[in-house]
Amino acid sequence: MKVLVINAGSSSMKYQLLNMEDESVMATGLVERIGEATGKMIYKKFPDTDAEAKVERDDHVPDHRAAMHFVVDMIKDAEYGVIKDMNEVGAIGHRVVHGSDYFKSSVLVDEAVKEVIRKIIPLAPLHNPSAITGVEMAEELIPNVPNVAVFDTVFHQTMPERAFLYAVPRSLYEEQKVRRYGFHGTSHKYVAQQVATLMGKKLEEMNVITVHLGNGCSMAAVKNGKCVDTSMGMTPLAGLMMGTRSGDIDPAVLTYVGEHKNMSVEEIDTMLNKESGLKGICGLNDMRDIHEKAARGDASCKLALEMFSYRIRKYLGAYAVVLGSLDAVVFTAGIGENDDIVRSMVLRDLDCLGIELDLDKNKGRIKASKVISTDASRVKTWVIPTNEELQIARETVAVLKH
Ligand code: AMP
Repeated sequence: MKVLVINAGSSSMKYQLLNMEDESVMATGLVERIGEATGKMIYKKFPDTDAEAKVERDDHVPDHRAAMHFVVDMIKDAEYGVIKDMNEVGAIGHRVVHGSDYFKSSVLVDEAVKEVIRKIIPLAPLHNPSAITGVEMAEELIPNVPNVAVFDTVFHQTMPERAFLYAVPRSLYEEQKVRRYGFHGTSHKYVAQQVATLMGKKLEEMNVITVHLGNGCSMAAVKNGKCVDTSMGMTPLAGLMMGTRSGDIDPAVLTYVGEHKNMSVEEIDTMLNKESGLKGICGLNDMRDIHEKAARGDASCKLALEMFSYRIRKYLGAYAVVLGSLDAVVFTAGIGENDDIVRSMVLRDLDCLGIELDLDKNKGRIKASKVISTDASRVKTWVIPTNEELQIARETVAVLKH
């Protein structure tokens, strides 16, 4: 079956067409700056051995409908396309950020499902509206092909109450659904399954900590294959220090800042989401820039790196205790896969957890799954490139088979 994966953001749309017979990518690309004066449309066909297999256009993309048109036109284009007719696509898998606790698994989209995703919009005002738009555009431009919603929150739905409830009046959960949900679930699930396969074990028989370090950062404690805790919360703001997000913070800081700096709720929200994290400490949010300045002796960049790594170490310790015993730790995403300095800062002196880093194996950017701990290390530590599109496509196939 061929599966088209759509990841619709507020001003962007990423897509990938996969052949699930062998899980190969047939075509991929993205449309950016939707609604702006000049947008960018990229289409790439695989195998991309000739330069002509890539199409790049800078042009106005007024809305998501135009973006979806580009996707449909390109994948069945006479010259660059990979299929002849959209009916060759067996299903469309959509990334949906927030499924609240309504969705415990990926689902076939119907009117009722769309209605619930809309109902969740207050919990994810920046993300869920574009997911709905993506589904509607697919229904309109690729009719008669089933749509499946794959939620970032679903993998974490196995958390027990003691992990997902906040210690605030319970009515906030019962009436407003205020609780920890967790995100990046597709990535955590993918790398957890991969590590089990690579170690020749069943995930249900393993305890794993997954560490997703990208623009957003989160960790998950996976016990016998089920997520039992994760660092992000009701929103993706909680937990680890991120590029521009604060991660965990004493909630009293917010009331204090509101009062003493006379900041509105919106201003505080912007500060915590866009002006904090690495950026808040050293003015930069891309790890590559931070390393460059730190190497030249910049004290605030060095401090940002120390803080970033320290927070991950604290969660590693906490989750090792949550799990009781630990089989593997997995690093993934932009920083997790590429940044040997951060990995070594996180993993140094962790004898207490049974983790012994092999500095040679850890060196450099890692493009394919690899163990970075020593042979003697009790807990195997891995770098595994994430593949959210493939995971969404796998979930999509699984929903249709049921
Ligand atoms: P992602 O959200 O997974 O695409 O990750 C994006 C982040 O990965 C960027 O903001 C960078 O900070 C980081 N990143 C990408 N490449 C590298 C690299 N070679 N070294 C360190 N960090 C990197």
